[in-house]
Amino acid sequence: NRDPYRIWISEIMLQQTRVEAVKPYFFRFFEHFPRISDLAAAPEEELLKCWEGLGYYSRARNIKKAAEILTEKYNGIFPESYGEILALPGIGSYTAGAIASIAFQLPVPAVDGNVLRVVMRLTDCRDDIADPKVKKAVRAQIQAVMPEAEADIRVFNQATMELGATVCAPNGPPRCLECPAMAFCKGRLRGTAEDLPVKGAKKPRRVEEKTVFLLVRDGKIALRKRPGTGLLA
Ligand code: SF4
Repeated sequence: NRDPYRIWISEIMLQQTRVEAVKPYFFRFFEHFPRISDLAAAPEEELLKCWEGLGYYSRARNIKKAAEILTEKYNGIFPESYGEILALPGIGSYTAGAIASIAFQLPVPAVDGNVLRVVMRLTDCRDDIADPKVKKAVRAQIQAVMPEAEADIRVFNQATMELGATVCAPNGPPRCLECPAMAFCKGRLRGTAEDLPVKGAKKPRRVEEKTVFLLVRDGKIALRKRPGTGLLA
């Protein structure tokens, strides 16, 4: 699908969320908000209701803010410029790259975790992918080899992501014998691919103890909405 609105919403929904979990939400979302201007005009409550169960509600709030900007400033359509897309709330370099390249065929990379892994294995690089500098360097490397023909740009980005999602996948050995890059992949040739990429330790999770009261009566549960900021907003 080359509609920037659909690419945008799918990418945001897929952050930290599995494809199978996203599917019903994705289709319901477009029944409610067929155009960006419908989203901008809808009360936030309606959007949050649609998002209920997907979690990370700040994503929905950012979508709403971005839809309002798109409607006010750009007549409800996406600007065809990477910089302007990147400036919208909740849209980082990966999502902006995906929208710009897939919808508008602009020659910009879209580096997600899958692409990072593929590049680290292809180049046999042991740099820490948790380091933002490394991600930036990978973006530059990909930028340098983006195809020139407009029609190939979206294919190139999607193919690289898909390679990382299906063949050079995480959690287990890469399926090098099925890989179109096997002849020139340094990680495969040197036997290092399986140990790549290197990822530095995450900050330890903060554990907080909470007491939760559940008020149940006649099969119904009383809920109180949390404030719009702070923990689990
Ligand atoms: Fe990944 Fe193997 Fe392909 Fe290299 S040859 S990109 S390690 S699947």
